[in-house]
Amino acid sequence: MSRHRKDNSITELKNYFNSVIDWVSGVFTDVESEMRGLEWGRLYEEYHKKAYDPSKVSKEVRKLYGDPYIKNRKGIFEYILGGSTDTKLLEVRIFDEATKKTVYAIQTAKAEKKGESNCSHCAIGHDANKSKVWKLDEMDADHVAAWSKGGATSAKNCQMLCKTHNRAKGNR
Ligand SMILES: [Zn+2]
Repeated sequence: MSRHRKDNSITELKNYFNSVIDWVSGVFTDVESEMRGLEWGRLYEEYHKKAYDPSKVSKEVRKLYGDPYIKNRKGIFEYILGGSTDTKLLEVRIFDEATKKTVYAIQTAKAEKKGESNCSHCAIGHDANKSKVWKLDEMDADHVAAWSKGGATSAKNCQMLCKTHNRAKGNR
């Protein structure tokens, strides 16, 4: 009797695992080594009722795998399942120190010539910071074109903003 019950629950468990596996392999047609060890049970519970187009998903997986700015490839799968909005999952690389320094120097030289703040947002403001020249460590690098919209993490797409304005623009 109790033995029989055990068999039943093992069958249930097997069925559950099979559902999870079927679902994962139905959504993600590419098999990547980073898929190992993910919490597929949790992801299944959260997302299996949503519809995904496997060929679109596959294209996106490959695009993200080809992006050198993504540090956490394990996050790619949940990022896609969640509708490709939560960039925190990917740990997108930030600008390196050399890039920041270069951009800072160019921006500050231009700003000093014009007599305005080297933070472009402060410069168009109406308070005392309008002409404030911030130090390098008082500023943060910002993606001019958001990374999530295809903006690269390169000097061309980098602007330094004072910490307040960078925070106001949101972490992208
Ligand atoms: Zn500012």
